[in-house]
Amino acid sequence: MKNVIVRSNCIVTCNEGAEILDGYIHVIDGRIEELGKGDAPVRCFNKETRYVDARGKTVTPGLIDAHTHLVHGGSRENELALKLKGTPYLEILKKGGGILSTVESTRKSTKEELKTKARKSLDQMLIHGTTTIEAKSGYGLDFETEVKCLKTALELNEEHPVDIINTYLGAHAIPKEYKDNIENYMIFMTDEVMPYVSENHLAEFMDVFCEEGVFSPQQSRVLMEAGKSLGFKLKIHADEIVPLNGAELASEMQAVSADHLLAASEEGMEAMRKADVTAVLLPGTSFYLMLGKYADARKMMDKGVRVAIATDYNPGSCPTENLQEIMTYACFGMRLLPEEIIRCMTINAAYAIDRSQEIGSIEHGKKADLVVFDAPNLEYIFYHFGINQVDKVIKDGKLVVENGKLTEGVRV
Ligand SMILES: [Zn+2]
Repeated sequence: MKNVIVRSNCIVTCNEGAEILDGYIHVIDGRIEELGKGDAPVRCFNKETRYVDARGKTVTPGLIDAHTHLVHGGSRENELALKLKGTPYLEILKKGGGILSTVESTRKSTKEELKTKARKSLDQMLIHGTTTIEAKSGYGLDFETEVKCLKTALELNEEHPVDIINTYLGAHAIPKEYKDNIENYMIFMTDEVMPYVSENHLAEFMDVFCEEGVFSPQQSRVLMEAGKSLGFKLKIHADEIVPLNGAELASEMQAVSADHLLAASEEGMEAMRKADVTAVLLPGTSFYLMLGKYADARKMMDKGVRVAIATDYNPGSCPTENLQEIMTYACFGMRLLPEEIIRCMTINAAYAIDRSQEIGSIEHGKKADLVVFDAPNLEYIFYHFGINQVDKVIKDGKLVVENGKLTEGVRV
């Protein structure tokens, strides 16, 4: 499909112009060539033109999931009843559950097994409208498994329509081999794993889980400095549970994003705005952990912080690939408006993965990543919740989802 014309009476561009209420998008060779009001001019058509009639439907940029833990082995449904009974996480850990059980399963899995599982997730993401994701390692922790997981994601990036941007998150937990020796684990990461990951271009970003009982702000800073000097762009899991001035640290280190931020201070938010750090908020995790509260998205927005919203897809605290599900929590939990949330999942999410020049809005020159929702307007997508409203997905100008299903070429 070299030439595609999408006709719709509701195009949500997520660019300054916001919405085109009756218009067309003309795509050539996977890029958006032009858009405008009314019918596409005759000069846009040629013999090969694929005409997508989305009248009565709503077109948005492809959704971007800026925070996922895509590649991992196993699942943790056995912890559900314990969680519902209020068993503290530390007790679940003692029973052999929690993050370290996922580390066990991930280490035991072959690359093919990891790939099959992750591919299934990517299919789900695509069917629900996600066209680009960030994917973190961090369930291997040892050299071999971290590299295995990063390579799995890179291979899938080549094979699957969804674009994947890799993040090395060795600093996700302390592996049992280093239980009482965090310092040595840090040296192992900075001296052995990170240089290898960097030299072999296995990840573009590096992330740290800065939290009480995981990596302290001081330790996080050491790791981030090492990452920066190796050429990684930075991310940080910051201020999720305990306020540790993670937002301030992200700003000082000029991280591209700081994620979670339920306990971020006002000073931290202001520092983020000044340093142009994107806040990546994860309301699905608040919901799933039954925290009874969400990150203060409204306050961040009022302060001028750029806010993105992602799934946090992972086996422990948010096992869903579906950004439409997350829209529901952003809307009814955080009380954000539909036009705000869609930006959080498109253009702002593009900033969170340093791709704002390429994707995230419908404008000339950007990748033709488009979602056609079976909804007459943007509000309807949020109003009618709990079902998949994606009718079509166009990725790089190719139709990859039709009638809510993967098209022939995509299915394996
Ligand atoms: Zn995470």
